Amino acid sequence: MWRILIVEDSPTNMMLTVAIIENAGHTAIQAVDGKQGIEMARAEHPDVILLDMQLPDISGIEVARTLKAESGTRDIPLIALTALAMSGDKERVLASGCDGYIEKPIRYKLFLAEMAAVVERLGRGPAS
Ligand code: MN
Repeated sequence: MWRILIVEDSPTNMMLTVAIIENAGHTAIQAVDGKQGIEMARAEHPDVILLDMQLPDISGIEVARTLKAESGTRDIPLIALTALAMSGDKERVLASGCDGYIEKPIRYKLFLAEMAAVVERLGRGPAS
């Protein structure tokens, strides 16, 4: 079981993501904008961060750069959630420091598999 910070401003997407996370036996921590996401990442040190790239205050790119620049948060697997479909956007998201990338709309099994794959690739091991 992981403690997973979800940074997402859309109530509908948040509700769906929390449901998937909790249904899979993980614990969800919620932040509704970029600044709150950064604060909660620092304070809670979650096992995984899911980061919406379109936030109302600061961009997901800026959140990712901030988290990856700090020793206290840079080792937390950081996965971008985005509806961006243009081919250059994935590279831009990964260049900002995100460790992986999941496209919306979120589909239950694919989402969990992609999240686990990123964490495993980083050497954090499977969920227990
Ligand atoms: Mn958003």
